Amino acid sequence: DEHETEALPEGAAGTVVLDRTPFYAEGGGQVGDTGKLEWPGGGAVVTGTSRTAQGLFRHRVRVVRGTLSAGQAVSASVDPARRETEKHHSATHLLHAALRSVLGTHVTQAGSLVAPDRLRFDFSHPAALTPEEVVRVETLVNRWVQADLAVDWRVVPLEEARQAGAMMLFGEKYGDAVRMVSMGAGEAVSVELCGGTHVARTGQIGPFVVVAEEAVSAGVRRLEARVGDAAVAYLQELRDTQRRLVGQLGGTAATLEERVAKLQADLKQAQRQVATLRDKLAAAQTAGAGGAAQLQEAGGFRYATAALEGLDAAALRNAADTLLERSGADVVVVGSGTLLVAKASEGARQRGAHAGNLVRAAAQAAGGKGGGRPDMAQAGVKDAAALQVALGAVEEALAAAAKP
Ligand SMILES: [Zn+2]
Repeated sequence: DEHETEALPEGAAGTVVLDRTPFYAEGGGQVGDTGKLEWPGGGAVVTGTSRTAQGLFRHRVRVVRGTLSAGQAVSASVDPARRETEKHHSATHLLHAALRSVLGTHVTQAGSLVAPDRLRFDFSHPAALTPEEVVRVETLVNRWVQADLAVDWRVVPLEEARQAGAMMLFGEKYGDAVRMVSMGAGEAVSVELCGGTHVARTGQIGPFVVVAEEAVSAGVRRLEARVGDAAVAYLQELRDTQRRLVGQLGGTAATLEERVAKLQADLKQAQRQVATLRDKLAAAQTAGAGGAAQLQEAGGFRYATAALEGLDAAALRNAADTLLERSGADVVVVGSGTLLVAKASEGARQRGAHAGNLVRAAAQAAGGKGGGRPDMAQAGVKDAAALQVALGAVEEALAAAAKP
């Protein structure tokens, strides 16, 4: 519902076309510029810039002061974030060249995103980059940055660009005259056809850091990197994380890995000790509970119940096994904490006992739930008092299970 208007009043949003503009329009993977327009008695913010197929630059604006009338002369200024975007854009050209140098000339650009705080570069390559390859690419880009190469752009006939070895994108339509961006005088390290905006010298890019490497699709990889202020901020974040870890784990940054390895080994050993102790605890408790005197009878089955302490599910199942073996019972039900395990001997099962049904009935009597196989099953209740109620309900449940 766009229409032409003679004036945009304060608060209104619209699109403005200027006869000349310093703004860069969204395209070639680079985001459009933002900034402001000012005139005597008024001002507007530019929230984005795009370009029509006819080459008109459309500035999306919101008037914040005064009225913007058609024909008004304005002073246009681009948001300083553009400088950071330019650094990231120039870095993608160096990255492209470095990838071809390290991985091979099969590498071609498959897409890119350039923003003030990061860049993303997609390229054809059949495998994930090894950490060593990432380091080599990163080192090469940083060398080219430190070499402070001159960045030049000029419009040349397409054929001349081709002869200069300019990187061209497959499937892209180029006109007869193309904009060629090269980095490095004489033997350029990078020559690309590109309409974007760039730094004047590569030294302005600042530090270059790869922050991620991942797959986009089969045969296409993606690198994400940061340069300039964003790279420094990223490195500071890493340093702060390291400092906090050293504070928590002790030692120094240099001994951090060693410290983590030692903690992991200690933890494994402690877990093994806990498992051993649990089994001993189970054995000691079932020895006490397994005396023949504690065997009871219901529905023609000899059974034993025991409330044990401090056992997890695995230790509780072992305890049920041991108790069934040693006590000579047909059926055992043991509990620990809020967990119940029932086990029925083969003979008992033939006479109608079913561990799953039994443990379900016992748990239900205490407001819990569970069930499982005829030989072994488990259930849960809400607390220790409910566990006692459930164990007390075994007798009745077992009597009900007996075949008439
Ligand atoms: Zn470019």
